[in-house]
Amino acid sequence: MVGGLSSHFDKNVKYRLLRLNDDGCVGEFTPNADVCDSLNVHAPGSSDACLQRCGAITMLPAYAGLPIAQVVETSCIHRGDSSCRVEVRFGKGTKVPPVGYIMPRNPMTH
Ligand SMILES: [Zn+2]
Repeated sequence: MVGGLSSHFDKNVKYRLLRLNDDGCVGEFTPNADVCDSLNVHAPGSSDACLQRCGAITMLPAYAGLPIAQVVETSCIHRGDSSCRVEVRFGKGTKVPPVGYIMPRNPMTH
């Protein structure tokens, strides 16, 4: 879900899902090389931008009518790590949507 949506709201980094189960997932975002070249930077944004991404990821399950998630950034390129990794813990009762799941158009009326 994150990988498919990420190109719609954030082109500064590329999202990759590393692990997924019913309890949560681990994801990684790495700088988009085209953006880095254009801005002549090692990594676009800042740790504040990563915090904003974590906030957005926290709310993603709500688009499927599920409880919000807890998200912790365990490594960050802006703290000297090689990439930004996040651990996502789903809320109680959350089940990973099946492949091909289509999110409701308006999650607030779901
Ligand atoms: Zn980061």
